[in-house]
Amino acid sequence: MKTLTRRTFLHASALSTAAVLGGPSLAVHAATPPKARVVVVGGGYGGAIAAKYLRMSDPDIRVTLIEKDSAYVSCPLSNEVLGGERDLASLTFDYRGLTRRGIAVMQDTVIEIDPAQHVVKGAGGNRYNYDKLIVSPGVDYDWAAIEGMSEAVAERIPHAWKAGKQTQILRRQLEAMEDGGVFYIVAPPNPFRCPPGPYERAAQVAHYFSTHKSKSKIVILDAKDAFSKQGLFQAGWQEHYGDMIEWVSGAQGGIIEAIDPETRTLMGSFEEFRGDVINLIPHQKAGALAQTAGLANESGWCPVDQRTFESSIHKDIHVIGDACIAGAMPKSGYSANSQGKVCAAAVVAAINGDAPPAPSYVNTCYSIIAPEHGISVAGVYRLDDGRIVDIPGAGGVSPADADARTRALEQQFALDWFRNITSDMFT
Ligand SMILES: Cc1cc2nc3c(=O)[nH]c(=O)nc-3n(C[C@H](O)[C@H](O)[C@H](O)COP(=O)(O)OP(=O)(O)OC[C@H]3O[C@@H](n4cnc5c(N)ncnc54)[C@H](O)[C@@H]3O)c2cc1C
Repeated sequence: MKTLTRRTFLHASALSTAAVLGGPSLAVHAATPPKARVVVVGGGYGGAIAAKYLRMSDPDIRVTLIEKDSAYVSCPLSNEVLGGERDLASLTFDYRGLTRRGIAVMQDTVIEIDPAQHVVKGAGGNRYNYDKLIVSPGVDYDWAAIEGMSEAVAERIPHAWKAGKQTQILRRQLEAMEDGGVFYIVAPPNPFRCPPGPYERAAQVAHYFSTHKSKSKIVILDAKDAFSKQGLFQAGWQEHYGDMIEWVSGAQGGIIEAIDPETRTLMGSFEEFRGDVINLIPHQKAGALAQTAGLANESGWCPVDQRTFESSIHKDIHVIGDACIAGAMPKSGYSANSQGKVCAAAVVAAINGDAPPAPSYVNTCYSIIAPEHGISVAGVYRLDDGRIVDIPGAGGVSPADADARTRALEQQFALDWFRNITSDMFT
């Protein structure tokens, strides 16, 4: 193992950034000794924002972002890839914008965190010293929750709950499916990444089926008895796709206990279902790194001080995004963005010996039901007795009786939201 001295840091950074990002910004770090070193792990919706806002708030702090992939593929709008409305390239972003801001972006997989020594260890042997660490590793899957499921089986029975290769596998299976086939979506129990996601996915695939294989059916087998924006989804499904989408609640037998991937058969508590294509979205927990670093509790998620996102388990380590327990906030990209900003402000304050500023948090989740039909749920949150709570009346869902123009506008807002938030992250 190599300790990341200034010399090796610059060398490693130069190699990685040259290969991945092409932007020389490290002179910024070399010229002046940093006030403090903050390492951010995970360059997704939470981590990229935290790194950028730290750097913007206090240029004297050295910010290192460690991300295992050379480019980021966004889950938001990836259901549109399944619906045939866009390709993955339109969801893919590199880290050059963050490098230009003076952030040292390292392509590396973090395999260990040593909270006592304040060191993060990379798979290639690099060691990154930190004064404050921010971790935003996303989610991992509880494969054991459904018998017969595993990471290897997910190559054939895709979850497509991380955008990229998994999305492509599922799209190809849907393309290859014969007209008249049955597509099953197995929706997970709460809490999970993107509560409206499975139901938007059903709509997007129905859009594809209705134009390419209209005799086909979509059945959602749900572990739950209710879901996000349920009334709006069910009305939108009916309006655009008639009876093509069927939703089976947990109480009606939607809970899946096992799968036989060879025969593509799902075993529920009451009956079995044989599908032509199956999208099994597994039970979820905080990303693997959060588990190995001992940042998660028995719930599988990471408890934090909800004012600063500092771990309740390890000092000077903050956890944001899907991996953390954030009171009333759903696990979404917008929540992760909001948490990244609150966390960055708290870390900068701590480094400068100030109290953390009063936090405010926000989330909006758009879902696209058809090319001119969008719906949304929004929430604004505050801290109350150490817990993030909803501010009554500050958010809400789209009106049930909205006219066609409003639905079309909301679909446009969904695309605008995506352009804005990814620009916030990567430029
Ligand atoms: C189909 C679908 C649709 C969605 N639509 C929306 C939407 O419309 N709006 C919305 O707000 N949210 C949406 N989401 C949810 C959103 O994608 C997540 O909530 C968001 O990505 C969470 O951000 P994060 O930073 O916690 O994790 P991620 O964005 O997943 O980022 C985690 C990053 O950490 C990296 N990483 C993990 N472990 C390591 C390691 N050991 N070393 C180095 N790097 C590591 C990963 O490579 C990844 O880049 C959707 C999700 C899905 C699945």
